[in-house]
Amino acid sequence: MIRFDKPFTQQEPIPEAGIERAVEILRSGRIHRYNLTPDELGDVAQLEADYAAWQGQDYCLATTSGGTAIQLALRAAGVSHGDLVLANAYTLAPVPGAIYNVGGKAVLVEIDQNYHIDCDDLAKKADTSGAKYLLLSHMRGHIADMEQVMAIADTYGITVIEDCAHTMGARYHGVRSGNYGHVAAFSTQTYKHMNSGEGGLLTTNDPLIAAKAIIMSGSYMLYERHGARPSAEVFETIRTKMPNFSCRLDHLRAALITAQMSVLDENIARWNHLYQRLDSNLRRIEGVSLPVRDQAEFYVGSSIQFRTDKLGKDDIPDFLSRCGARGVDLKWFGAERPTAFTSRYDSWEYLDDIPDLPATKAALDKTIDMRVPLTFTDDDCDVITTIIASELSD
Ligand SMILES: *Cc1c(COP(=O)(O)O)cnc(C)c1O
Repeated sequence: MIRFDKPFTQQEPIPEAGIERAVEILRSGRIHRYNLTPDELGDVAQLEADYAAWQGQDYCLATTSGGTAIQLALRAAGVSHGDLVLANAYTLAPVPGAIYNVGGKAVLVEIDQNYHIDCDDLAKKADTSGAKYLLLSHMRGHIADMEQVMAIADTYGITVIEDCAHTMGARYHGVRSGNYGHVAAFSTQTYKHMNSGEGGLLTTNDPLIAAKAIIMSGSYMLYERHGARPSAEVFETIRTKMPNFSCRLDHLRAALITAQMSVLDENIARWNHLYQRLDSNLRRIEGVSLPVRDQAEFYVGSSIQFRTDKLGKDDIPDFLSRCGARGVDLKWFGAERPTAFTSRYDSWEYLDDIPDLPATKAALDKTIDMRVPLTFTDDDCDVITTIIASELSD
């Protein structure tokens, strides 16, 4: 019986240039974001300038995690205690956590069978709840019809915060994911598209949102030293109005990310190559179906989702453990009890209101989820899908 013996959690090494720069920073002892000589920009501000240019947005703030980027984005966009925040119910736990942390109240919205926010349910809940914010997670890289989402947001006067943890480098109708909404958050946590252990990026074209986020990240009134910031006048009206949450990135991690920016486009192409190999192999297995991807979407295949008619909800745990025994590490977001990076919305018990969302549950009940690390090869993809096929045929 063939087995797969490579870990699904093994990332590639940090590029040598990043390691060298990290060592230099360590030798200098100057790691804090504002520990700079008078004429020095510093690694964090440089990263912000580079990422803003790459993303095609005016402003960028580097943060200590994707979760903190989302929190700052929500607060800077205006969310405060008791405000309602619409959010698709299929996402990762830092998302409801961010809403909770800023004192917002989540209004969970259904997803469809292709893992997008359900625009009918979004319009309905926007209308009935009166919520003025939408935190849209492009979960696992699946991008909803952004024109429809933004049309609904316009109709109801909703500010859109995009969670692009899985869509760094993705596009919709040629527009980079994150540039449709008012503000976007990215993650550089180890399993995302750039790896600094933990880390995040916030981007926006809105000068006031940018200024507020910069102050809240802990600017100690040194905001003029930031790499992609609005002009100093924008800060004047808010500089003493925003609290300090101490969550900007440090030079060490910024250096690791900067070194990966130069290979980001290449890595996106490599992810998509592996994804397409897995996708076409999986499609050849009887009874397996894959999500329908919108023609307008350019995705980054850093993970893959599939469904199988053969397995009922109750069969999935056993299927996962049989694949796991052969080295194929699959995940499931349908389990009642959250485990290992997966959780279903109804396990977020700290939320005030946990609605019944039958469409979301139905989609997650049958969805198998798999990470696609860049340390895998074409042959690895073939071995993995052979094992999946054989475990499905037993
Ligand atoms: C990883 C992730 C985040 C942010 O996570 P951090 O670990 O805080 O960087 C946000 N949303 C989704 C969907 C994620 O997968």
